[in-house]
Amino acid sequence: MIQNSEFMHLRQKLVDRPVVAHDLVAIKTDLERLTIESTLADLPTHSYRVGGHVLGHRVAQMFADEPQLPGVIVIQKGVVRGVFSRRTFLEQIGRPYGVEVYLNRPIEVMLRTVEPKVLQLPSSCSVYEAAQLVLQRPSDKMQEPVLILFPEKEPALLDVYVLLLAQSQLLNLVVTAEQRRRQLAESFQKIGKTLSSSLSLGKVTERILKELSKVMMYERGMVMLYERGMLRSVAQRGFPEDDRAGDLRIEVDEEADPLFRQIISAQVPLLIGDVMFEPNWRQLPWLPVDRSWLGVPLIIQKRVIGLISLTRRATYAFDEGDIDVVLTFAGQAAIALENASLYNQIISFNEQLEEMVTKRTAELNQAYTILEKLDQTKSDFIRVSAHELRTPLTVMKGYGQMLSYHPTIQADDSLGEMTANILAGIERLYRVVNNILDVAKIDSNTLDLLPRAVAVKDVITQLAGTLVADLAERRLDLVVEDLSKLPLVVGDFDLLTKLFYSLLSNGMKYTPDGGQIRVGGEVWVGAEGEGYVQIMVEDTGIGIGVEQQGLIFEKFYQTGQLALHSSGQTKFKGGGPGLGLAIARGIVEAHQGEIWVESEGYDEERCPGSRFYVRLPVASEG
Ligand code: ADP
Repeated sequence: MIQNSEFMHLRQKLVDRPVVAHDLVAIKTDLERLTIESTLADLPTHSYRVGGHVLGHRVAQMFADEPQLPGVIVIQKGVVRGVFSRRTFLEQIGRPYGVEVYLNRPIEVMLRTVEPKVLQLPSSCSVYEAAQLVLQRPSDKMQEPVLILFPEKEPALLDVYVLLLAQSQLLNLVVTAEQRRRQLAESFQKIGKTLSSSLSLGKVTERILKELSKVMMYERGMVMLYERGMLRSVAQRGFPEDDRAGDLRIEVDEEADPLFRQIISAQVPLLIGDVMFEPNWRQLPWLPVDRSWLGVPLIIQKRVIGLISLTRRATYAFDEGDIDVVLTFAGQAAIALENASLYNQIISFNEQLEEMVTKRTAELNQAYTILEKLDQTKSDFIRVSAHELRTPLTVMKGYGQMLSYHPTIQADDSLGEMTANILAGIERLYRVVNNILDVAKIDSNTLDLLPRAVAVKDVITQLAGTLVADLAERRLDLVVEDLSKLPLVVGDFDLLTKLFYSLLSNGMKYTPDGGQIRVGGEVWVGAEGEGYVQIMVEDTGIGIGVEQQGLIFEKFYQTGQLALHSSGQTKFKGGGPGLGLAIARGIVEAHQGEIWVESEGYDEERCPGSRFYVRLPVASEG
């Protein structure tokens, strides 16, 4: 029987030791290894059990000695009879009448009188669920310990404070995980930007390793590109400072390297917890052994373009979380790499193209210079020859004319005709030589212009007069519309005569007998209000092929369809040396005018005709 003094002492001891006097630091350290999936089985519990016959003061003594005990499990005949929490126990013995009664009775009797309610939970219950159930209890029962039932162990008591601490630890875990997730997402956003901000392959590969080190730990890292069965190192971090890592090439075939082969064919990451126990691991002799290895493929549109290889010194240093991080990272890295390599291709293609263009341009320039020189030599030759020809021609013409007036020749008709033919030949040669000299002047921009106000009507009328006989011979009709209303143009009368002679004589040459040549004119006003006289010379002739129309104004150009060297100036298809239109264009351009042709095409049967247009600037009034 416990004595009163003893009891008082015990009670004092119990009161001195508060209900919650746990070593919180020790418990917290214990709880640090919890994960989101932890259950009650992972929490520290107490297994203070007594038989029903044990007297109350023994339990009191135990509570006094071990203040961390949340309660006692009472067992009777191998079955849990109930749980006395430390708190309820103290309350009961704290009552003035109950001290002796309770402490001197078997605990089983105390239990029967008090019948405390106990929350029983299986050890597989999650921490979160258990905490919810505890918090739903009435407030005076909230602190009661929980009885945990294990499938193969004796039941044990869980302190609710431990449970709530565990719950808060888990909440912390969730919050930290969420924070980390957000940080990662932010980092990835930044990484994505950084990686794609450069299109240089060298920069991108180096940035990949630098940025990756910001989101996960690794000791050595390497970016390798995969091309034609070969992995080639393009960036390294943490490797010895020599060329060996940079020059690394790995032949990826089944036998030579099954590990790399596996990553490339399966397109999934490969994690080796300890390379020492991996039979397929090939240790490079010049590298210290890093025990953990993680290989992650760089994939673009289901195609492996390379891989990231990471190592850590410790064994099993990478976990699933690391794989997730590198995988997300690898996705961005692959895009940046692909962009950079496409850009590289474009750049090198452009460079090749530029090189080709430069080469071709140089060749063309060279050819052009040669052609220019040849053209100049030819022009010089023609000009000099024409000059040289003109002097004897003038002499011949003079003597020819003298001959034609000689009485002997005049008396003899056949001699007269011969002389006339000689003179006609000389005249024709003279014209050709003059034309050549005109072209030479046009080419060298030395055409002498004597500009004055000219009425185009006068030029045409005068020309029409000289052509009457030829027109009649060929039964050609020359219709000249009323040109008297046209304003005057600034021009050289003789050159304009030459210009329109060329157009009219061409009209006659390329129009079959019996056809018509029509000359019309109108005023044309340019975009800035400048006035022009526009003359049209139209014929009912054989027309000009569309593809020839741009060429006929070049010197020495003939369409090739015509019988050359025909004697007449106005004979049908009596082609000349191909200078008429070149001179015409030269004259028009010297007058700041324009000349062009319109024709449906060349057809000797249908004779679609041609229309030549000449635009000459109007002379300013006053
Ligand atoms: P050509 O001395 O040969 O007449 P031109 O320079 O006057 O040289 O003309 C160049 C070529 O343009 C001619 O050979 C001819 O084929 C073509 N051509 C010029 N005028 C006409 C025209 N009115 N109708 C058809 N073809 C023409």
